[in-house]
Amino acid sequence: MTEKWVYLFREGNAELRTLLGGKGANLAEMTRAGLPVPPGFTITTEACNAFYEANQTLTDELMEQVWAALKQLEADTGKTFGNPIQPLLVSVRSGSVYSMPGMMDTILNLGLNDDTVEGLAKLTGNPRFAYDCYRRFIQMFGDVVMGVDHYHFERIIQKQKEIRGVSLDTELTAEDWIQVIQQFKDCIATHTREIFPQDPYEQLKKAIRAVFLSWNNQRAQIYRKIHQIPDHLGTAVNIQLMVFGNMGENSGTGVAFTRNPSTGEKELYGEFLMNAQGEDVVAGVRTPEPIAELKKHMPKVYQEFQEICQRLEQHYRDMQDIEFTIESGKLYILQTRSGKRTAQAAVKIACQMVEEGLIDRKEALLRIEPEQLDQMLHPRLDTNVESNVIAKGLPASPGAASGQIVFDADDAEYLAKQGNKVILVRPETTPEDIHGILAAQGILTSRGGMTSHAAVVARGMGKACICGCEQIKIDLHKKEMTVGTLTLKEGDLITIDGSTGQVIDGEVPLIEPTLSSEFRQILDWADEVRRLRVRANADNPEDAAKARELGAEGIGLCRTEHMFMEPSRVPIVQTMILAETREEREEALRQLLPLQKEDFKGIFKAMDGLPVNIRLLDPPLHEFLPNAEELAVEIAKMQMDDQTDQMELKRKQALLKKVRNLQEFNPMLGHRGCRLGIIHPEIYAMQVEAIFLAAIECKREGIRVEPEIMIPLVGHVNELKLMRELVDEVAGRIQEETGEKIAYTVGTMIEVPRAAITAQEIANEADFFSFGTNDLTQTTFGYSRDDAEGKFLHAYVDNKILPDNPFITLDTEGVGALVRMGVEEGRKTKPKLKTGICGEHGGEKRSIQFCHRVGLDYVSCSPYRVPLARLSAAQAVL
Ligand code: PEP
Ligand code: MG
Repeated sequence: MTEKWVYLFREGNAELRTLLGGKGANLAEMTRAGLPVPPGFTITTEACNAFYEANQTLTDELMEQVWAALKQLEADTGKTFGNPIQPLLVSVRSGSVYSMPGMMDTILNLGLNDDTVEGLAKLTGNPRFAYDCYRRFIQMFGDVVMGVDHYHFERIIQKQKEIRGVSLDTELTAEDWIQVIQQFKDCIATHTREIFPQDPYEQLKKAIRAVFLSWNNQRAQIYRKIHQIPDHLGTAVNIQLMVFGNMGENSGTGVAFTRNPSTGEKELYGEFLMNAQGEDVVAGVRTPEPIAELKKHMPKVYQEFQEICQRLEQHYRDMQDIEFTIESGKLYILQTRSGKRTAQAAVKIACQMVEEGLIDRKEALLRIEPEQLDQMLHPRLDTNVESNVIAKGLPASPGAASGQIVFDADDAEYLAKQGNKVILVRPETTPEDIHGILAAQGILTSRGGMTSHAAVVARGMGKACICGCEQIKIDLHKKEMTVGTLTLKEGDLITIDGSTGQVIDGEVPLIEPTLSSEFRQILDWADEVRRLRVRANADNPEDAAKARELGAEGIGLCRTEHMFMEPSRVPIVQTMILAETREEREEALRQLLPLQKEDFKGIFKAMDGLPVNIRLLDPPLHEFLPNAEELAVEIAKMQMDDQTDQMELKRKQALLKKVRNLQEFNPMLGHRGCRLGIIHPEIYAMQVEAIFLAAIECKREGIRVEPEIMIPLVGHVNELKLMRELVDEVAGRIQEETGEKIAYTVGTMIEVPRAAITAQEIANEADFFSFGTNDLTQTTFGYSRDDAEGKFLHAYVDNKILPDNPFITLDTEGVGALVRMGVEEGRKTKPKLKTGICGEHGGEKRSIQFCHRVGLDYVSCSPYRVPLARLSAAQAVL
């Protein structure tokens, strides 16, 4: 039996999303529900994949099914393809399983040619409209199918306007468009050496092919990568009867959301343009009117639209993004889909819908992308600081951002790579700017509405964005923008506030966001269902307090080396490292002791009543010393200077010798971690003493302390055994001297493969395991964590040698297998062995879900990722 590649809208339904794509499935569902949807049919995503498998050819079998569906469409509409009296005109649109706004291609008005255009003119009694449609079709077809840059077409229109002395497209007459059409055809012939096809069947076949090909255009590929949409899904193609929003003053087209996609407020939200076609709204060329204005233009249509919006929202139980067209006073729904929304809106809508009884809590938790919670923690403007507001546009995506102005997506990408913060400023944003949007802190456009593509994309990424800021005039050529008398050039600093639409001259301080009650509500629900505990990685009291505020249930990793790196302590640390004798070293350590003790006290206080996992010193010692090359240059200069203090010179020379002695070929595999503690036990002894003195002082102040002492980089049980003895000995001594008892545990990081493999043995000496998946990834793959990303890892991911960057998303098959093994082996020795993760993966959604599956007790991540981790842990259960 031959496969079914084509479905009439009335044959499909919402369940067939994978096959029909989101748009196709929704059109089918709406058709079934009796909504006013123009008829049509969908070519499946499987047909797209078959197209690629067949070397990018449209098979006869597929095309036979397309022609059959087209016959049916003709029968349903009473119109005929290519017939000059009753011409059937269609739109051809992409539609993948996941919405990818504007990333793929669309062709409207297909079926027009030199004959049918006249038919359309007669039929509508409006030749201007008919020729306008025809030129739009040639323009789109020329661009999308035949590859002629749309710029050439725009130039022809511009010239025609100049000849006629008018400034708007709408001022051009039918005769003007007839001339433009001839020039368009010539332009296509010149650029492609092909004739614009007159045969509608040929037009359709070519259009289908172009839409399939657009699945793999560059911007679609980038979008899929950012949103983790698999490449193998393919796109469906929807072929639908054209309805015309540009048929006159009682026609129009627009887009609306059933709730406000920025704030989540329950209100119809959107915009429309009278006498226009869809692309006019979406492309952001003309600035549309707010949807509420439609009520004034056409009260009846507005009411019908409102009712349909409500019905659709109830039906899909989610906020909808609806495209509509009014043709001569009749309303058509062209598309509905779950609307993209900001993090803030997602959280608010989910809570509201639970309250309205539309969805349950579980559904609400699953509706929120954990990354979105992270976005909500982003900064906003400090309103106490005077700021020079220079313009106001549409608040397209909330959050504030400051940076240097750049006018080009490539420049934005380049400068951001150099470590600069940039604001991408464009007249209008197009999907081609996506890499610039990705690189920028925020986006500002002078034209376009809230539903322009880049606004949608920015919201999805949680970037601040202002659209349609018409007061600013941008000169791309000179790379400058003017507002009134003020001129700002590339590189000048501005601040944008995507929540209010304000554009501000210069840099404005940003402050931390406050969390909405809905944000807390969602996280409370998450806490009710999750099994994994969530801790934070923090090395100072401020971070610890922040983490606790965001819901951390303890510290999973306190990296004590960060305390050593504080500038005022570095000289003491250096003396400690450079000491020739044990006594000398101990003297430096004695100076460090009270400082470390205060550090720990601050953290214990912030974490009163919660466990605090402190890791003893881990990095190679030379990290605390000056750079050898720089030091050598400095010495050379001193030697040439008669005034040089000879003692100081000698000290520097000794220092250089020591630095060189400590240098290693592979420092990450060298003298670090517990290897340091074993060779220099006095360092670890000082740290343990500081921990216990701090714990005891805190205890005496009524603070409940729960220290966990962690030994890094253990690969052999004997290493841990030795270090555990050291900890117990110092702890015992301090407790005896002070007469106080502190309950504590000693455990190890599992961050080299041997530790995971021999976990059963290691567990004999450990009260807990914490998987250091940064190092475990480094040592399992044999990739240097400091070099791999810049050198080859990007290419590995781009070329799909690896599915993901393993330093971001846990490699479950390799590194993850070792984690699983470590847990299982360790629990053979101690069934209740506490296990956690403290590598960066502890704050990444998919990795967290893996941690849940392998039965870890907790994840630990940076403070700001704690909410994300709480939600991910809940989703892992659901
Ligand atoms: C790790 O290796 O995963 C870890 C948490 O330790 P660090 O990143 O400090 O090496
Ligand atoms: Mg490590």
